[in-house]
Amino acid sequence: MKKFLCVLLTVALLAITFAACSGSKTETLTMATNAEFPPYEYHEGDNIVGIDAEIAQAIADKLGMELKIEDVAFDSIIPGVQSKKYDMGMAGMTVNEERLKSVDFSTPYAKGVQVVIVKEGSKIKTVDDITKNKAKVGVQTSTTGDIYATDDFGEENITKYENGAVAVQALVAGKVDCVIIDNEPAKSYVKANKGLKILDTNYVEEEYAICFNKENTELKDKVNEALDELTKDGTVQKILDKYIKA
Ligand code: GLN
Repeated sequence: MKKFLCVLLTVALLAITFAACSGSKTETLTMATNAEFPPYEYHEGDNIVGIDAEIAQAIADKLGMELKIEDVAFDSIIPGVQSKKYDMGMAGMTVNEERLKSVDFSTPYAKGVQVVIVKEGSKIKTVDDITKNKAKVGVQTSTTGDIYATDDFGEENITKYENGAVAVQALVAGKVDCVIIDNEPAKSYVKANKGLKILDTNYVEEEYAICFNKENTELKDKVNEALDELTKDGTVQKILDKYIKA
């Protein structure tokens, strides 16, 4: 009996050692995001879920890597990718000229539209009404909405908030007259807060992609290949459709 136990123990130890060794061989893919951007990334209990989390998981699975998601402030994603703290940034992030100076982007995987949220009955009925009424505009700091709005309506009319949810609370509280933000998070904020609506006129149209350190073209190429396969086999569209209802 003792001998049997001994053998059993040895086998168990070997199994654990083997698992530990093979486990450490799996490369980790660290993705930085800002999980305040439904339906692309948001918290559900202890987990970060959403379109980006699922596409990233599908990419990691294809590459045989283990996905690790880090939830950080939106404006620390690019610096963190530049300093190689994170392997990639995926956060409903729009490709633009300015960012392309600091990081490389994957092939775009989704489209975004900057929209305007107002209170129902607001004087602001079109984007032009923002200037006409010298309206106060709330934005999420360092986003493209922030960049365009600051350009178009002037720094003095813009209030920058840490994330979209806080900006929308400021609108509800009457501290700003409108919020400029991406359309899908806008829809979920309007759903969650009574008395708000999205203007029919779109502000700016853009494309979302994953960002990488400029030196890490090897990872960017691998991710692009995986993304291409996941687009061709319909996986990306399936994930988008799961979260975005027409
Ligand atoms: N698409 C916008 C941008 O890239 C907002 C992204 C976000 O807030 N997560 O600036």
